[in-house]
Amino acid sequence: MTSDLAALAYAASAVLFILSIRGLSHPESARTGNLLGMLGMTLAIATTLAIIAPDLQPVTIALILVAMAGGATIGALLAARAPMTDMPQLVGAFNALGGGASLLVAAAAYYSPESFGLAGAGDAIRVSARSATELSISALLGAVTVSGSAIAFAKLNGNMSGQPILLPARHVLNIALFLGIIAMIVILAMSHGNLEYAFWLVVIFALVLGVTLIIPIGGADMPVVISVLNSYSGWAAAALGFTLSNLGLIITGSLVGSSGAILSFIMCKGMNRSFSNVLLGGFGAEEAGAAAATGGEDRPVTRGAASDAAFIMKNASKVIIVPGYGLAVAQAQHAIKEMTEFLKEEGVEVKFAIHPVAGRMPGHMNVLLAEAQVSYDDIFELEDINSDFKTADVAFVIGANDVTNPAAKSDPSSPIYGMPVLDVASAGTVLFVKRSLGSGYAGIANDLFFHENTMMLLGDGKKMVEDIVKAL
Ligand code: NDP
Repeated sequence: MTSDLAALAYAASAVLFILSIRGLSHPESARTGNLLGMLGMTLAIATTLAIIAPDLQPVTIALILVAMAGGATIGALLAARAPMTDMPQLVGAFNALGGGASLLVAAAAYYSPESFGLAGAGDAIRVSARSATELSISALLGAVTVSGSAIAFAKLNGNMSGQPILLPARHVLNIALFLGIIAMIVILAMSHGNLEYAFWLVVIFALVLGVTLIIPIGGADMPVVISVLNSYSGWAAAALGFTLSNLGLIITGSLVGSSGAILSFIMCKGMNRSFSNVLLGGFGAEEAGAAAATGGEDRPVTRGAASDAAFIMKNASKVIIVPGYGLAVAQAQHAIKEMTEFLKEEGVEVKFAIHPVAGRMPGHMNVLLAEAQVSYDDIFELEDINSDFKTADVAFVIGANDVTNPAAKSDPSSPIYGMPVLDVASAGTVLFVKRSLGSGYAGIANDLFFHENTMMLLGDGKKMVEDIVKAL
């Protein structure tokens, strides 16, 4: 394959990736977006194979194809089996693999520079100073992604506590590690890659840094961390692309790097937190006590049954449904769709209000509702529907908690103060479906449960909605 043709093919795959990201931004076009992404990746891999194939033995090509088939099968099986609620940790695990791949390719290029077209002139120069720097940056980003993603996975998967672990002098430790890495990169570059220990110290310091950066961050912020690590894995690949002069890697890596960074920014904005506030960690440590306290509240609450909820909603003219993380846990989306149909038949206007950080990842609720074939026309974003609660007879909150918490507006000492929330309390009646009076992800009490116009429907989301449907 000529280099012009290869550049053209990589450019075509880049266009497909961009169209893919565009497609993924709306549920209606998400499937097409996925397909375009797969097509782009197939083209990029085929191009790379076509470039390297003439220099390879047939057995090596066969090995590459077997490894690809094995990886694709494992990936497809894992993704198909993971429940929707486990998506963040699945993405975390895949990030670790991406970072690990960059780290291994960087190490391979360091040990066998001639195979990667990097060999320096003469024995004294293993690789050029530039290549040594680029390789160590890829190894650094790859290693931070591997260990950081492993911690994020363990926190989200319940293999370790989600509580922030605050080491004494952690900021000093992180700065020392960072300076150590910079020093090793300079030593490696100045020795033209000859001082092996410097390369491995970059890797070891980076692996430790991945751990020390992520352990102080609480479980509630892990989805943001996953997105940040996703961004790192992209930059690691892009750095490698420069070293290996591979246009496809540079473009794909930059797309992953920048889209991960943008997504992290959107998540932080949705929680009204700054990037540094999330990444410096510690959020959630002091709220642990508050979380425990909420379970034991003994203020009076109005409790209701499915039949009460059915009666109230049947007689309403406008109902706004607010789904949250508990909808995903209960898998109540199909039951909700059925309830919506019944209410519409009774002449009730039904809308859905989606908070940007409802659930555990952006678009979590949209995906669930799309799966149950709820019409996109009935789904509204926070800023488009918040003023509608005033005119709604019922706000039906299912499995949502933090995204409705009025403390975000009224209590400056609350950790979620300033986060935009759905104004459900302005509706005539608030029906709250959840299993207990316990807190949500941020671990803070929700005063709304005790409001006069709130009725708590305590129970599993799916069971409760099915009972409401029966009563309707
Ligand atoms: P929350 O985590 O605040 O609340 C979910 C509620 O669901 C819990 O209070 C729980 O109460 C209830 N629940 C759990 N299981 C069930 C079930 N089977 N049936 C009925 N209810 C159930 O969720 P929200 O969606 O309101 O808020 C999302 C939180 O996640 C926010 O704090 C947000 O900042 C955070 N977050 C979101 C990200 C995103 O991108 N979406 C990213 C990072 C963080 P109970 O145990 O009593 O049933």
